[in-house]
Amino acid sequence: RSKAAGLGEVTFFEAGMQLQVQEFADLERDLRHALMHGELFIFLQSQVNGDGRMVAAEALTRWCHPTRGFIPPVQFIPVAEECGLIIELGAWIFAEVCKLSVRVNASGPVLPLSINVSLRQFQQEGFVQSVKHILQQTGANPANLVLEVTESLLGDEMGDAVGVMAELSRLGLQFSIDDFGTGYSNLARLKQMPLCELKIDKSFVQDLAEGSNDAAIVEAILGIAKSLHLSVVAEGVETRAQADFLRQRGCDRMQGYFFARPEPAEVLLREWLEPTVGGALCAESKVH
Ligand code: C2E
Ligand code: MG
Ligand code: MG
Ligand code: MG
Repeated sequence: RSKAAGLGEVTFFEAGMQLQVQEFADLERDLRHALMHGELFIFLQSQVNGDGRMVAAEALTRWCHPTRGFIPPVQFIPVAEECGLIIELGAWIFAEVCKLSVRVNASGPVLPLSINVSLRQFQQEGFVQSVKHILQQTGANPANLVLEVTESLLGDEMGDAVGVMAELSRLGLQFSIDDFGTGYSNLARLKQMPLCELKIDKSFVQDLAEGSNDAAIVEAILGIAKSLHLSVVAEGVETRAQADFLRQRGCDRMQGYFFARPEPAEVLLREWLEPTVGGALCAESKVH
């Protein structure tokens, strides 16, 4: 009896696996197609300072699938990472954001743009070369770009990730640790990295209330950042109470639905470049 049940389980498990494998294969095939047929778009989400002014933006990739509709990055980025397509996809994203950066920073105050970079890209042979090449081709100023990486880059198995970062930082690129606090934090290694900022993960921001555990974690992260002379961005800020809490404790920048949703790059660019259309906050930041 137990054997039969066991076999049943095995069959069930295999059926589920097959479905996953098929789904994965479909996504992989469609993603290759998407890359060549303009189904991917760069969205930008603004980051504001304590006064609520937009001072930076993060690039977030969107896939509009012809039959399945919108597929979120949490679904397609892991597929791209797993099948290696992230190299090509990552290069495309980097080039697109470089072009946006050139346009947005042609004159006036600088708007730094952040780009999410996968571990797999770092592990790729020739990553630095590819980055150099794209910078040259697009004419983007690396000083206006921030690469967002996760704490997993600090792990021992990452080999020379810090070396790769150092090379990229010599090119003039800046680095931010995304989702800080959720991963394996090797603080000793953190100190060796050429970082400019930490991004507090939205899971800690969401339950911020005076005296809560998350409040203590956020305060601790702000303390670490201060002692390492890094700036701090909080992601996932959805309420005024969260924004007030963060601002009062000296968080440099905030990003979240309370201020702005990610929007098509063209929309955000227009707001930034044509302040009369974008409203008072943008107008203010264009004064000098
Ligand atoms: P992330 O880099 O931590 O990006 C923040 C995510 O939080 C984004 O989700 C953003 O839309 C979302 N978000 C922003 N404000 C709020 C808020 O107030 N509340 C809540 N609940 N969420 C908010 P998105 O765009 O779906 O991206 C998810 C993740 O996918 C990103 O997390 C990043 O890890 C990855 N990703 C997105 N675009 C790219 C890309 O171009 N390259 C790579 N390698 N990864 C990407
Ligand atoms: Mg990010
Ligand atoms: Mg993040
Ligand atoms: Mg996050």
